Amino acid sequence: MKNEKGSIVRPDALPDSASRPVVTPLSPSVVYASETPDMLDRQYEGALHGYTYAREGHPNADVVARRMDRLEGAPHAGVVTASGMAAVSAVLLGLTQAGDHVIGGNQLYGRSLRMMKEDLPRLGIATSLVDPGDIEAMRAALRPETRMVLIEVVSNPTLRVADLEGLKALCAQHDILLVVDNTFTTPRAIRPFDWGADIVIHSITKLLAGHSDVMLGYVAARDAALNDRLRVFTVTAGMNPSPFDCWLAERGMLSFDLRFDRAQATAARLADHLGTLEGVRRVIYPGRDDHPDRARAMALLGGQFCNMVSFELNGGRETANAFTRAADGLSFAPTLGDIGTTLSHPASSSHRALTAKERAELGMSEGFFRVSVGLEDPDTLCRIFTDAVAAATGS
Ligand SMILES: *Cc1c(COP(=O)(O)O)cnc(C)c1O
Repeated sequence: MKNEKGSIVRPDALPDSASRPVVTPLSPSVVYASETPDMLDRQYEGALHGYTYAREGHPNADVVARRMDRLEGAPHAGVVTASGMAAVSAVLLGLTQAGDHVIGGNQLYGRSLRMMKEDLPRLGIATSLVDPGDIEAMRAALRPETRMVLIEVVSNPTLRVADLEGLKALCAQHDILLVVDNTFTTPRAIRPFDWGADIVIHSITKLLAGHSDVMLGYVAARDAALNDRLRVFTVTAGMNPSPFDCWLAERGMLSFDLRFDRAQATAARLADHLGTLEGVRRVIYPGRDDHPDRARAMALLGGQFCNMVSFELNGGRETANAFTRAADGLSFAPTLGDIGTTLSHPASSSHRALTAKERAELGMSEGFFRVSVGLEDPDTLCRIFTDAVAAATGS
């Protein structure tokens, strides 16, 4: 070949290989080249499968989406989004119009609550926030123009359990979409589609990816037309995820079952242990006999009470400060689902916008903590709590 001075400005094709990589290749390409206009036509028509532009879809997103579909038993191919909030937004903004009414659980994730309170009303969509464990209150909030009900199965951080069966019956009776954010509970504890949910939402950021190094969300709908609308809206609104984030998420999801089971078993153990500590006023865990929704948790979650434990220390803010300082080896960070145990203090973070009185009504004092239990050795973890509670409360 003649010695060329200029090179072709296009990467070379990958070499052929008779063997396959065991790790999903990372495909950062935004743009995909087709062979001919005819073939591109057939791609757009759906007769040929092929990617065109990464906002519309890319291999790493599809790998994660298909894994999520299987976990949730989704009836159609769901969509992976750049964050959990993108998935929430896709549902709240992509499936509603001015004049609609939306009901949300009164203890939704903070940003979901904010969207219900601030953004939907600004767009002419009325909202109400109602306790998802109280079907009569839900019924009373219904309007002729109610379009959907958005709930989480277990509330954060008070760990109350929604009446999913009652909500399904109510929504079915009035032709309202039941939307379930399954982030907290995960498909290992409950698959909302099996309980009649119309749409399932996830923040993959949390337990599913599990390593606090990627933000990602997921949404899927039971109805094919709605599912399509969600896909088109996420593409139009640019809610698409980055290939690298999807690549990381898949890697995390491969160990999700193991991590979940371990964290859950340790959470049950920690809940019982906290119950024996003198400086602890109250422990909240859906698997405990003293939990007000234990029977419902048993029915919905089949004995999988998840990895979140909340508890209340005897004392106020000073005690809380002393506790996080003494909790050596645990991160004080308002997130959940990391491989390491994290502590969250709602009064200074997720629920800081509420007044002390409003927090008190929800049972959240300055001594209230939520624990997202991680993968530590259970004995070590219990010892850390014993020591930190003793140091903080002097008991
Ligand atoms: C974190 C969270 C979200 C938002 O997900 P991001 O990935 O942080 O955007 C939504 N719902 C619940 C229940 C969450 O915990």
